[in-house]
Amino acid sequence: KSLTSADIRQMFLDFFKEKGHTVEPSASLVPHEDPTLLWINSGVATLKKYFDGRVIPENPRIVNAQKSIRTNDIENVGFTARHHTFFEMLGNFSIGDYFKEEAMEWAWEFLTEDQWIGFDPGRLSVTVHPEDDEAYQIWKDKIGLDEERIIRIEENFWDIGEGPSGPNTEIFYDRGEKYGNDPSDPELYPGGENERYLEIWNLVFSQFNHNPDDTYTPLPKKNIDTGMGLERIVCVIQDTETNFETDLFKPIIEATENIANKKYGDSVEADASFKVIADHMRTVTFAVSDGALPSNEGRGYVLRRLLRRAVRFAKQIGIDKPFMYKLVPEVSKIMVDFYPEVKKKEEFIQNVIQTEEERFHETLNEGLQILSTIMKQETEKGSSVFPGTEVFRLYDTYGFPKELTEEYVAEAGFSIDEEGFQEEMEKQRERARSARQKADSMQIQEGVLGEVHVESSFIGYDVLNVETKLLE
Ligand code: ATP
Ligand code: MG
Ligand code: MG
Ligand code: MG
Repeated sequence: KSLTSADIRQMFLDFFKEKGHTVEPSASLVPHEDPTLLWINSGVATLKKYFDGRVIPENPRIVNAQKSIRTNDIENVGFTARHHTFFEMLGNFSIGDYFKEEAMEWAWEFLTEDQWIGFDPGRLSVTVHPEDDEAYQIWKDKIGLDEERIIRIEENFWDIGEGPSGPNTEIFYDRGEKYGNDPSDPELYPGGENERYLEIWNLVFSQFNHNPDDTYTPLPKKNIDTGMGLERIVCVIQDTETNFETDLFKPIIEATENIANKKYGDSVEADASFKVIADHMRTVTFAVSDGALPSNEGRGYVLRRLLRRAVRFAKQIGIDKPFMYKLVPEVSKIMVDFYPEVKKKEEFIQNVIQTEEERFHETLNEGLQILSTIMKQETEKGSSVFPGTEVFRLYDTYGFPKELTEEYVAEAGFSIDEEGFQEEMEKQRERARSARQKADSMQIQEGVLGEVHVESSFIGYDVLNVETKLLE
């Protein structure tokens, strides 16, 4: 089937609309009233209020395509076919309405029926929790899966920390021997760490609440929470090697090729660079569009880290000056139909990114110089540990996120002295604390504003206001 990513997203929403679901818009990546989360990281994250019973939805059946950010996957990005820091999760939800049977039957119908996705059922297999006989029986007897396609694994219990949790079942698509055919590979099974059996959909049967004190209590009503990665199902349908050759990423990669001195496909290393850049572009673009801004803390630190990481990978394909801001229109063009807000804020997003890129480039070469000097000194001493005090100096003076220094030095076989770095951070916090105690509040305010003003003079007052809020 030739379907675009936009077709597939819409098809999912339409399917569940036909099953009586209300379509909820994609919520902001920046959580509202949820101090436990830095970013919205799944479809259910924006619906917690319904799941824990705080709010009763008008319709207990909900469907959405939710923007999500997961930084825990950052190391995988560019190196696996399937991980992103920003992705869209397609999900259907039941708030105390339907439960396992409907959720599983509908998932199967959507994936295998010809008028919907129309996958060959012979390519699909599932995992269930070892104690979830109910789910096992439904797959086997109601849906008719062969027993060897139903795998029981312990990890099938879903828990995002505070909030709804419970056993789950996951659906995998076999992409064929091309992506793994070594029978002695212990990871080559659905649920294992491999790229052949691609995890596409997770159906969570949330029946417990994970309380703040880490106890579990049964929820007043049983819920369904599912999540399917749009990029992954598009990859399978468009039959691409990785998610990055789908229509969700390809134009960003092509635009990057026009600036780089390498082409996508030149080498594994070059490809990783193109993928990292395309991935981080989408994340930063959407995050800024939702009101986050680069800074040295929290969400802002994540953005700073992503942008600087992309710059590092860009150097490897011959890009030595600010360029990411030029790719924003590519992102917004791909996403405009479903996410018009990005297009609307395009210029603002470009300004934020360009400023951050310029700021980083100003100090980058100096920082790299320091990096190599220190490594040389340490090598002479017979050490391959990069001192924590220097990691801190690079962070504090040159704006190198710790993780970035770590990655840079790792290329030369170095590790960083994490403990020493944390000690320096603690000392800095201590200094800040005592400074705060000394100064009166008025002076502090001036100090913060002064700093922000100097740092951000380029982007104007709207940004200053937001950034000031974030600093508070
Ligand atoms: P994986 O095992 O591949 O890392 P996961 O089990 O961590 O995925 P879930 O938490 O079950 O993922 O999320 C539900 C679905 O969202 C997954 O089945 C997948 O399709 C998609 N997904 C999860 N994490 C990512 C990511 N980092 N990038 C792209 N899609 C993702
Ligand atoms: Mg994961
Ligand atoms: Mg998984
Ligand atoms: Mg999963």
